[in-house]
Amino acid sequence: MAIVEVAISIPLHRTFDYLYDQEIEAGVRVKVSFGAKKVIGIVLSNKDKSEFKKLKSIEEVLDVSPILDTPILNFLFWAAKYYHHPIGEVLLAAMPKNLRLGKPAVIKKVIGLPNKIQAPDFDITEEQDRAIKAILAKQNAYHGFLLHGVTGSGKTEVYLRITQEILNQGKQVLVLVPEIGLTPQMISRFESRLDTRVVAIHSQLNETQKLDAYLLAKETQAGVILGTRSAIFAPMPNLGLIIVDEEHDGSFKQQSSFRYSARDLSFIRAKQADIPLVLGTATPSLESLKNAMDSKLTRLTLANRAGGAIMPKVSLIDMRSNFDGALSKLLIEKMQQYLAKGRQVMLFINRRGYAPVYFCTECGWKSECSHCNASMIYHRHINRLKCHHCGDEKMPEQTCPDCSQSTLEVYGYGTERLEETLGSHFPDTPIIRIDRDTTRRKKALAQHLEKINSGDPCIIVGTQMLAKGHDFSNLAMVGILDIDGGFLSINFRATEYLAQLLIQVSGRAGRGLEQGEVVIQTRYPDHPMFNYVLSNRYTQFASGLLKQRMSAAMPPFAHQALLCANAKNKQNAQEFLQEVAGLLKNINMDTVEIWGPVANSIEKKADYYYFNLYLQSNDRSALHQMLATFNQHVDTIKLKNKVRWYLDVDPID
Ligand code: ADP
Ligand code: ZN
Ligand code: ZN
Repeated sequence: MAIVEVAISIPLHRTFDYLYDQEIEAGVRVKVSFGAKKVIGIVLSNKDKSEFKKLKSIEEVLDVSPILDTPILNFLFWAAKYYHHPIGEVLLAAMPKNLRLGKPAVIKKVIGLPNKIQAPDFDITEEQDRAIKAILAKQNAYHGFLLHGVTGSGKTEVYLRITQEILNQGKQVLVLVPEIGLTPQMISRFESRLDTRVVAIHSQLNETQKLDAYLLAKETQAGVILGTRSAIFAPMPNLGLIIVDEEHDGSFKQQSSFRYSARDLSFIRAKQADIPLVLGTATPSLESLKNAMDSKLTRLTLANRAGGAIMPKVSLIDMRSNFDGALSKLLIEKMQQYLAKGRQVMLFINRRGYAPVYFCTECGWKSECSHCNASMIYHRHINRLKCHHCGDEKMPEQTCPDCSQSTLEVYGYGTERLEETLGSHFPDTPIIRIDRDTTRRKKALAQHLEKINSGDPCIIVGTQMLAKGHDFSNLAMVGILDIDGGFLSINFRATEYLAQLLIQVSGRAGRGLEQGEVVIQTRYPDHPMFNYVLSNRYTQFASGLLKQRMSAAMPPFAHQALLCANAKNKQNAQEFLQEVAGLLKNINMDTVEIWGPVANSIEKKADYYYFNLYLQSNDRSALHQMLATFNQHVDTIKLKNKVRWYLDVDPID
């Protein structure tokens, strides 16, 4: 009889021992009984002794060979330790759902090889050539690169060429892209250029396809895995290179249960596999800029757009003197000029729905969600008010619940209202709206994109879904509306994000040979950030922010962790964190600062009250030692009625 250590997906920092008539390899899935249930677990080790008496037997061994091989297991152990997350949850979260459910690890359908490889019809630029050579010179060992190239500078072209070289060595390549960056265009660009099977992993796949993609990577039948954040866990036995495109993007951070950053984990995976890592972006995160300063990343620059395209002209429209609603006269005039020339125009507004506020003009009452501290958003096509936090919806009130007058109106603009307003200004121009509401239907996005790619003049209205990855050749002008919320945000990263977003969105304009134009409407035209954005000096702007962060001892110069508790009973959540704060203070690590508990910026969401406790230290290892000690003792705090809590290491908002 062997004693087998098994990890199970439960929120406890421990593993369990079972009996089996022979040893089982680590990384194999087993079915075991746990309490009254049968669950799927992962074998971690075999041992001679157990500290428990009365062990149960393993019910069934599900794999002939390990699903998780040693390199992936080691990578996941590292991740579980760093994020202080239970190992069982980490291991099972890293696998596709069908494997988690115990389904057999067999490929259903092997997708074909892209059949025709198209060579590019241009030569690489000198800048691209230098970057490619620098990366390939380090292809046999770990080395981190920051490929900082302005939008349209041909970063993707660099990825394609280094990828092909690595493939030629018989190795595999992992390419991570942001959630909204993995467009059909991006996938087909990789498929049509690379002499291998390219497998995309993203949320639109069904579970069978996800499992197939995972297994094709594991069996090295896929040379390239192109995926969103969870692809960082794809098993790739011959991994030779990792590329993280748009490394600054917030979607690399998972914001529920196991809160990892795929960008940050890519360093560890590359180090463990001893291979190069390339982080590409037009707008490096402050974390990556600091890493470049500290020589942890070698910076490679593409300062010019490829193929002779020039950067767009950027200007501001001061909205303080504009009383005509969402669109200034000047913006409309500019749009007319481009449309008259047969060109396309895109308007970017980061809010879906018709209007963000439904209020009483008489007494100021405003419709709010009864489950959240948030306004209800009016959606006109269904004539309903919706909460974008909890999904609750209702019919709009006819009369004011406070003063009984029928003086209720909407205020502000979302994509839906913008589309309507544009319709009255441009009755003869097709308007294509792209947001979560118009792309819910399968294939809807592809159909919209097809229309845009036909090149016919049109107005595109979209949310940040459009900020990345798209390359519309006839798009001449981009108008950016209603970004001022970013200046008012309490998140210390807000201006960094806003500058990145403006530059990314601007990057959609004028990718052909004619110079494009970008117009930003704002009520804060004097904000210093614009000086930099207008003249395309992101690096100088970011360096300034970095200095501020250094003098304020904020990330990336300090390390943070967040403990969040939430409960239906406000006091219970608060008291739990007070006890946690007490426990942490007893750990007595004076290099770690503790603030809070404080209410979350949106205190109530879906009937739960959220409170936060922040930990910060200049000394990362001290912070982590404290978190590890905390995890050992947290069970001593009795969880009052239904308090839920989580730990977020390196939180981003
Ligand atoms: P990025 O990823 O930096 O935004 P892309 O790789 O998408 O840039 O390149 C932008 C456009 O320029 C694409 O249409 C691409 O085919 C083209 N391109 C890339 N490199 C070159 C080059 N050396 N010469 C001409 N065109 C290029
Ligand atoms: Zn009223
Ligand atoms: Zn709500």
